[in-house]
Amino acid sequence: ATPTSIMVGTGRGAQLGVLIKNGEALQTAEQVKTIVFDKTGTLTHGRPEVSDFSVIGDGFNDEQVLYLVGSLEQESEHPLAEALVRYAREHQSRFEQAEAFRPLAGSGVSGTVAGRRVLVGNSRILEQHGITVPEEVRDDDSLSAAGKTVLFIGVDGGCVGMVAIADKLKEDVPAAVATLRRLGILVVMLTGDHPLTARAIAAQAGIDEVIAGVLPDEKQQKIEELQRAGTAVAMVGDGINDAPALAQADVGIVMGSGTDIAIESGDIVLMKSSLGGVITALSLSRAVMKNIR
Ligand code: ADP
Ligand code: MG
Repeated sequence: ATPTSIMVGTGRGAQLGVLIKNGEALQTAEQVKTIVFDKTGTLTHGRPEVSDFSVIGDGFNDEQVLYLVGSLEQESEHPLAEALVRYAREHQSRFEQAEAFRPLAGSGVSGTVAGRRVLVGNSRILEQHGITVPEEVRDDDSLSAAGKTVLFIGVDGGCVGMVAIADKLKEDVPAAVATLRRLGILVVMLTGDHPLTARAIAAQAGIDEVIAGVLPDEKQQKIEELQRAGTAVAMVGDGINDAPALAQADVGIVMGSGTDIAIESGDIVLMKSSLGGVITALSLSRAVMKNIR
């Protein structure tokens, strides 16, 4: 494309809240046949709320568990962490500075609070740390099947609690997905969350293709695999865990509300939280490319 037509497209995009950082991406966008969406914070509001909480075993009471969870999660940037801290504050106002805080890529967080080893995350990461989640809790699918993210709390090697978090689909997602499908684009959900939770949200969005339970490096690999199938792939995401996949994609589209590392890795930044910007970007690309042919 000529520099002029790209400049015009970029200017028009800016007016519409679609910041095009990379002119080449505007040319490539026209050829995109597969669009991959992250779930939390991209398809959903990323403003999750705790819907269920229960203590497991009789070593700790509610306040004690929430004190440990709040103290640890206040160190995390993840949207789930915000929900946990808000909930913990309602029950327990005093938190402690956590030590040795560590985000466990796409599966949870760990650290030390008041001398206790605390781990919050999915059942897989607890079990990888040698913590057994009681079978009757682990195998109860009702919360995941309702689209809720289920997390467990490990303290000093034992599972002491369970918490479920609900995050609503953004209102315009079903319409945006339907439009993309009408344009002949394959729409895929790619998430670190549990497959059942992912499927429930995907069903609400009208997405058939779901790749769930993936770690951040695996997100990048999945994009590569889709690219090997021969078409240009766009990735839409918001988190640190999406950064490698955003960089790998032919077109990386980031939510403006996303973390800085994700925004750096993207080619196009959506200034509104709505997914309409993805369609705007594709239309701009088509218009720019048509203009110069
Ligand atoms: P998505 O791909 O949908 O944006 P992530 O890859 O960010 O999801 O997270 C995947 C999973 O990792 C979450 O569903 C949750 O189980 C776990 N997780 C991530 N961050 C945290 C955290 N701060 N506290 C507890 N669990 C977390
Ligand atoms: Mg996300």
